[in-house]
Amino acid sequence: MSDPLDERDMAGEPLAVVAREAGPYLESLRDRLVHDGTQDALLDELDGPLPAAGDGAVAAVERLVRIGTRAATHSSGPRFFHFVVGGSTPAAMAGDWTASLLDQAAGLWPTSPFAARAETAVLRWLKELFGLPASFGGVLTPSATLAHVTGLACARYWWADAHGVDVTSRGLAGLPVMPVFSSGLVHVSTRKALQILGCGRDTLRTFARDDAGRVDLGAMDAALARTGGRAVVVANLGEVNTGDSDPIDDLADLAERHGAWLHVDGAFGMFAALSPRTAHLARGVERADSVTADGHKWLNVPYESGFSFVRDRDWLSRAFGAWGAAYLPDADDERINYNMLGPESSRRARALPIWATLRAYGRDGYREMVERHLDVAAHLGDLVEAAPDLELLAPVQLCIACFRYRPDGVPEERLNDLNARLGEALLADGRVYAGTSTYRGMTVFRPAPLNWRTTKTDVERLVDVLRELGAALKD
Ligand SMILES: *Cc1c(COP(=O)(O)O)cnc(C)c1O
Repeated sequence: MSDPLDERDMAGEPLAVVAREAGPYLESLRDRLVHDGTQDALLDELDGPLPAAGDGAVAAVERLVRIGTRAATHSSGPRFFHFVVGGSTPAAMAGDWTASLLDQAAGLWPTSPFAARAETAVLRWLKELFGLPASFGGVLTPSATLAHVTGLACARYWWADAHGVDVTSRGLAGLPVMPVFSSGLVHVSTRKALQILGCGRDTLRTFARDDAGRVDLGAMDAALARTGGRAVVVANLGEVNTGDSDPIDDLADLAERHGAWLHVDGAFGMFAALSPRTAHLARGVERADSVTADGHKWLNVPYESGFSFVRDRDWLSRAFGAWGAAYLPDADDERINYNMLGPESSRRARALPIWATLRAYGRDGYREMVERHLDVAAHLGDLVEAAPDLELLAPVQLCIACFRYRPDGVPEERLNDLNARLGEALLADGRVYAGTSTYRGMTVFRPAPLNWRTTKTDVERLVDVLRELGAALKD
């Protein structure tokens, strides 16, 4: 019997199938719908029994690409505004393909000095971009959630150490609850990270002085005093409903005064540091002990891409190193084993798409993109304010506009239902994509234009489609 995997001489052919389809697909994104409503039927073609005799690589990949280019959510196009979703720059996507092509075991220096050096380089570039001190340690993660796990694992190590316990070795048993304080702007992923770390999702306490969640510094100050400073403060740079941010510098002052750990969630908000127009929002992050940011949002790198920065790299190796396996290599400052600085063991060369896009567009290219998105979001805010049936609910900050549909004559108690139905109608329509969220008890839209392809025309389209669908729904 022939070996069906004996395709060694034609390993490039299935890649050529993808490359051939890539250009037309990417070109189609500018005009195509986010979905055309026919994808569900195609999904059945993905399923079915495991074949005994395979199709061969070219046929299998042809089938996958044919289904995928039609049935996928075309979320890397310019009119996908649901949640906070970025696109993928041409250089980042090609860098990502390169990561697959080279298939590096990127956790250990001996298995790939190339991947490790690329990771060191991009972490340095990112620190420079974000205004973080070069002395910070860092590691690439699959997401901001895993970057929270990384930074908060360091905080947990630091906190348990203050209680005389090596948490890496002993675990949390016998320790009190770790106090974690934030404002009402805190993202659910911070709670999820605490849940994963065994600290408990619901132990996080929020201190808010209004229903928008803005921080009550006085109350947090008093609570910190009661902990004797053995506590973690989470500051939020860029909230997902309005783009609002905590006063990072004030929270850094508080943390410093009490000797608490400061963790900053800048998943997308960290990119405020790139423009002189918004850099003030990020002021103070350089004083944090740990910082989270995402690559797959505003950097426009393909999923999965996140970054964790920690003031002192030793915290990372205390929290994640010391596996006690004799076959693992020692690290030094040059030959870093990144899997000893983060939660993963085997990992891909996640640095390559970041490397490619930062080399391609540089600091100026990214500043211009961020400023274009600031302009697009501000334009969206202006359109909402000018429309008699739309209501802007918060000042436009960064890259998010928060608003709802509010036509004349519809009473307040019916607005949440109307907006929820409008959200469903919009998602079903597919021309532009934006779902609803809840803000201060209201059902709202909070589109976040941060795809590199998005222009003012795309948010004009969003407003037109929303008002058209709303008018058909409201009676
Ligand atoms: C998206 C987001 C996260 C979580 O990021 P993932 O990459 O999805 O894990 C955390 N915080 C904020 C503010 C976010 O916008």
